[in-house]
Amino acid sequence: MKQTLGVLGGGQLARMLVQAAQRMGYRTVVLDPTPASPAGQISHQQIVAAYDDPKGWQQLCEACDAITTEFENVPAAALEYLSAHKPTSPPAPAVAIAQDRLLEKQHFDRCSVRCAPYRALHNLADVQALPASLFPAIIKTARLGYDGKGQVSVVDVEQAQTAWQQLGGVPCVIEQKLALALECSVIVARNAQGHTVHFAPQRNDHHNGILATTYAFANAVPQHLADELVQATTRIAKGLDYVGVLCVEYFVLQDGTWVVNEMAPRPHNSGHYTIDACDHSQFDLQARTTLQLPLVPPRQHSAAIMLNLLGDVWLDASDKLRTPRWQQVQALPGVHLHLYGKHDVKPGRKMGHITLTAATAHEVQDKAAQVAALLDLPFEAI
Ligand code: ATP
Ligand code: MG
Repeated sequence: MKQTLGVLGGGQLARMLVQAAQRMGYRTVVLDPTPASPAGQISHQQIVAAYDDPKGWQQLCEACDAITTEFENVPAAALEYLSAHKPTSPPAPAVAIAQDRLLEKQHFDRCSVRCAPYRALHNLADVQALPASLFPAIIKTARLGYDGKGQVSVVDVEQAQTAWQQLGGVPCVIEQKLALALECSVIVARNAQGHTVHFAPQRNDHHNGILATTYAFANAVPQHLADELVQATTRIAKGLDYVGVLCVEYFVLQDGTWVVNEMAPRPHNSGHYTIDACDHSQFDLQARTTLQLPLVPPRQHSAAIMLNLLGDVWLDASDKLRTPRWQQVQALPGVHLHLYGKHDVKPGRKMGHITLTAATAHEVQDKAAQVAALLDLPFEAI
């Protein structure tokens, strides 16, 4: 039996993975440049090193039996080094694709999973050659975007040109802005033998480009769509020869058709509800794929809603710090509070989340509305 699990990155995703691995009795080591990172606070050990520091990689390899990462923007050389020395997942080539929106869309094309109409932007000529039929559109930097950062909406070629220059003239994709009926995501876990298990697709609501709410209960995503999305996600994972937990985001359009948006080669914010609403969480499955333990299909036992807690919850109307109404919130049955141990409050910063569990969709939405009212969160029942 392997004894120590290592994680590149010490944020909240690593923290929840560490919690899952420790519950099973494993030792954990995280590598993060910031001392007392969210995961470092609770891990047996934190190596304080930059992600591109080969000394840090070496220390991690010496301390661990198997290694994974909590984020996709890992320097390619880091995963290559780690996987040459210790069992490491997800595989470096899959992460390289997920790091780059253009490679990612090309992968979706190869798997015959439709995305929004798009073009690659490498130079001014690419921008000037954009067809009018692509607009309105969104320009997204090919690399390093998250939570809606690195994205600009544009209505014509002229605006696209200005926006692309403002983004620094870096490689971008421009994609048609679609009329969305709803957004959802699918989380699968795949092992080295190609065995894949999945959670039921969940529905997501974003505010200002950041995930606000995940709805995970029967029919939050219509069943006929859910089956198609699981099949597409499994195909995407297989095409990557993937090992680990993979999340794929989808847009359902107003005409009932759907397209793939993007993927994350790791557990995802939209899967946090699985900790409290499923017998095995997305982090349990990440621990299992990393440590080469058997994979089993997870089972959801409660209807669930996840509400993200951004820094704004700690700020009043004049941006002064306040203590959220935890007492009232925690007095409600089926409330599971998760705080990530981040000390600096910033608007839009992910500080924690709450999962509500209940027996029915109706009941869980009722609870979510109560919690949202207490914490001034944007929540709408569906
Ligand atoms: P995250 O890291 O939170 O997933 P991100 O920065 O990677 O976000 P995207 O997932 O590409 O960005 O986009 C963020 C949100 O913007 C989407 O969830 C969706 O609400 C909206 N959006 C993005 N692309 C489109 C599009 N082509 N048409 C309509 N809405 C879009
Ligand atoms: Mg996204």
